Amino acid sequence: MWFETTYRCPRCGSPLVYIERRGSAALRCPACGVRVWTDARTAARFASGGRLEWQRFMELLYAAYAYRLAMKA
Ligand SMILES: [Zn+2]
Repeated sequence: MWFETTYRCPRCGSPLVYIERRGSAALRCPACGVRVWTDARTAARFASGGRLEWQRFMELLYAAYAYRLAMKA
């Protein structure tokens, strides 16, 4: 499963793509090819009462993405 998000790549401005498969979730820029991912166990920490706190989860992924870009620069 994958879909475009409203988050933008800080480097090129492209919409980041959310990808989920086999217990992992990733945020990727299709233009730069930069990708960060997390596993299902980490995602589960954002679940409460059987619901995923989606917004907080996405913010975490996006923060990780921005950090990854900064480390590459
Ligand atoms: Zn990019």
